[in-house]
Amino acid sequence: MELGTPENPYDLVIIGGGINGAGIARDAVMRGLSVALFEKNDFSTGATWASSGMIHGGIRYLEADPNVTKKSCYDSGLIQQIAPHLLFRVPFLFPMRPDTLTNKIFLELVEVYFDTYDRWAPLKGGVPHSRLNRAEALAMEPGLPKDIIGAVTTDEWGIDSPRLTLINILDAQERGAHVHNYHEVVGFLRGDGTGDADDKTSTQRGAMRGVRVRDRERGGVRDVHARITFNATGAWAERVAKSAGAQMCRLRPGKGIHLLLAGRVTNYALITNAVDGRQMFIAPHQNVTFVGTTDDDYWGDLDDIPVLEDEVKYVLDGARRVFPKIDECRIIDTIVGCRPTLYGDNKYESQLSRDHAVYDHGEEGIPNFMSIAGGKLAAYRLMSEEAVDAICAKLGNNKPGRTHLEALPGGEAHDISPEAFAEFGLDNYSAGRLIYRQGSRADRVLEIMRKNPETAAIVDPSEPVTEAELRYVMRHELVSQLDDCKRRSRLGQGLDGGWSATLRAAEIYCDEKGYSQRDRFDVALSFQRGRWKDRRDIIRNEQLAAEAVGQTWFFTAGGAIGADPKSLLNDPAKTPPGATSDPTSRESA
Ligand SMILES: Cc1cc2nc3c(=O)[nH]c(=O)nc-3n(C[C@H](O)[C@H](O)[C@H](O)COP(=O)(O)OP(=O)(O)OC[C@H]3O[C@@H](n4cnc5c(N)ncnc54)[C@H](O)[C@@H]3O)c2cc1C
Repeated sequence: MELGTPENPYDLVIIGGGINGAGIARDAVMRGLSVALFEKNDFSTGATWASSGMIHGGIRYLEADPNVTKKSCYDSGLIQQIAPHLLFRVPFLFPMRPDTLTNKIFLELVEVYFDTYDRWAPLKGGVPHSRLNRAEALAMEPGLPKDIIGAVTTDEWGIDSPRLTLINILDAQERGAHVHNYHEVVGFLRGDGTGDADDKTSTQRGAMRGVRVRDRERGGVRDVHARITFNATGAWAERVAKSAGAQMCRLRPGKGIHLLLAGRVTNYALITNAVDGRQMFIAPHQNVTFVGTTDDDYWGDLDDIPVLEDEVKYVLDGARRVFPKIDECRIIDTIVGCRPTLYGDNKYESQLSRDHAVYDHGEEGIPNFMSIAGGKLAAYRLMSEEAVDAICAKLGNNKPGRTHLEALPGGEAHDISPEAFAEFGLDNYSAGRLIYRQGSRADRVLEIMRKNPETAAIVDPSEPVTEAELRYVMRHELVSQLDDCKRRSRLGQGLDGGWSATLRAAEIYCDEKGYSQRDRFDVALSFQRGRWKDRRDIIRNEQLAAEAVGQTWFFTAGGAIGADPKSLLNDPAKTPPGATSDPTSRESA
């Protein structure tokens, strides 16, 4: 029987496929609810993509928001149990700057601060802090300024946040949820007080009865009915709620940028302070180094957030204080997004609470409509559980949340080792990266290699990503456009921005999706246009030269394979197969 009709509505429709929408979908379907989720872009393209990827307590919030730190530490411990393959330790050094009386006093204060944080370290499997003298700190991190007086160590956990989101989405789907990327909610269905007897949604005047959804790839609009409509649109949440007439959900979207450096440039993650005293860091993350972040009120277009020159300067100036060699590093990329920070008055951005809130808009006359805002990636599971508790209370479902008890896809125990891939000529590092991303499901990629050993070939050497992994994610991980592979496998996320990999990846994509190979250059170009958006604001020095080499190679190869001259001229009007022809509407929902 078709779901989403007035006679047979979903129990729950979720708007937004960031970490919170994904977590809510998984939790709800595990409690037996029928669920549909709509994301207007690909999953994990909002704040979740832009995050620093820390499943941490958030030492920054210890003073103003100790409860948030405690909750995040607690949830971090549980996330480690359900997705152990995706977590990696991030050991930190907090270097103390030159020898002044103030700094000596500061060092003592920092120790007290870390003592407090250590109390919650066991919740997240953390290691208590320790104090290093100058020689020890410099031996561990030779790139530190030579005049430091010592350092304090601490540790956190990092994660691949798009993959964490994806495995929540996949688990929800495998348990029966209907999940859709590139579907934008553009309106709401409301009761007018005149529904007929078969109608299973509330027909009470003004009550929320579901959503109007636009398919951004195939075109067309349809109505989807639900007993509860849940707004999990992150920084968009206030605008989406307001478009339904709800006022309770108020935000101060907090823009944050990171600069991505080529390779892992430090041995340890380094904590530093920006010019205004805000804490920021330099942290090796997978095959790159994150430097950031900023936190500024942002009231502009959430669908096109620029990286500004002064933000780049702010980040580099802060980083230089603890890592003077920052200016010798190559900035290869940026990530930018907006935190869905809860509204607060009379405060600077960094003083705002990082807590979250679940809103029941029934309290303001819109029954069956709810929103979530605020919070952190590190506490997404707990936030989702709280949201689904509230949803279930409305639906008369009293099953408890179980998301902390069952492994996410790939998180099950396994004994797949990198050596298992050696018979196909794959080196240990590349195999290890694949096992990191896929966990227990790496054997499914191995199976593709067994059927066709040539698929063990590496397509993107700078991550590295094999053909077999690309084929696997294209078949089984809701890939719609080639760009989605970036969030599944880190295609194009390495040193050369994917210039050398994209054409081959596009060939594989056309093969898997049944498109003509004549389209492969357009597919590749569309991927590179998306990547260019992330890089356009920071290309300089050596990276400019690398970019020129990459582009020359790419367009020359395009000519050699007979690409349409219009495409070679980079005509933006050309839309390749699979790409959305329909821009995100500014007045959605
Ligand atoms: C720079 C930065 C660094 C951060 N670092 C960390 C960190 O290290 N650790 C941590 O714990 N937290 C961190 N955070 C916070 C964390 O990333 C966010 O709290 C979290 O990702 C929010 O998830 P979300 O699902 O609520 O929002 P989002 O990830 O933004 O998802 C909302 C989704 O809704 C979709 N959407 C919007 N409108 C519609 C519509 N009309 N129809 C359909 N879909 C729609 C959007 O496309 C988007 O994908 C950071 C945030 C930023 C910005």
